[in-house]
Amino acid sequence: MTAEGIDLHLADEPATLALGADLARSCPDGARVVHLTGDLGAGKTTLVRGWLRALGHSGAVKSPTYTLVESYEPAGRTVHHFDLYRLTDPEELEYLGLDGYFDGRALCLVEWPERGAGMLEAPDLIIRLRVDGPGRRAHLQPQTETGRTWLRALSDKWQ
Ligand code: ADP
Ligand code: MG
Repeated sequence: MTAEGIDLHLADEPATLALGADLARSCPDGARVVHLTGDLGAGKTTLVRGWLRALGHSGAVKSPTYTLVESYEPAGRTVHHFDLYRLTDPEELEYLGLDGYFDGRALCLVEWPERGAGMLEAPDLIIRLRVDGPGRRAHLQPQTETGRTWLRALSDKWQ
């Protein structure tokens, strides 16, 4: 792992699910916020699905495109999954009462964080996904000491 993070090839959908699952398993207690960037169809929601399933969530994981956020309580841990694609102005987030989400011990996974610029907590980790041939490329960049600890644990398996 370099200071810039980890670059991975995800050959197919199961690989994206597996990365999400390993991020869940290696997630330090102190991790609070992860930003997921990439175009529509890059695999952001798929990664979150693998993440929540690994924590024991057995129901559906749908992109909260219209509701902006969906909350889960798998294995006694609170996970808030945001999708800010539909936001036209970051100020709209004021109505959501963000403090209630970026609070305490919850983990926030945020798709389209750039649409909430200025309103969101700083991330521990930024995950950038993009289409690469029939598969995907993932770039994982730590932003905090917690993020660096996390990627060191993950890189044992993924690199
Ligand atoms: P996003 O949330 O970024 O818009 P999705 O997670 O909804 O994207 O995924 C869009 C499509 O990409 C889905 O059909 C999913 O099966 C597919 N997909 C996810 N990961 C991969 C991968 N590594 N290789 C090929 N297809 C993938
Ligand atoms: Mg999505």
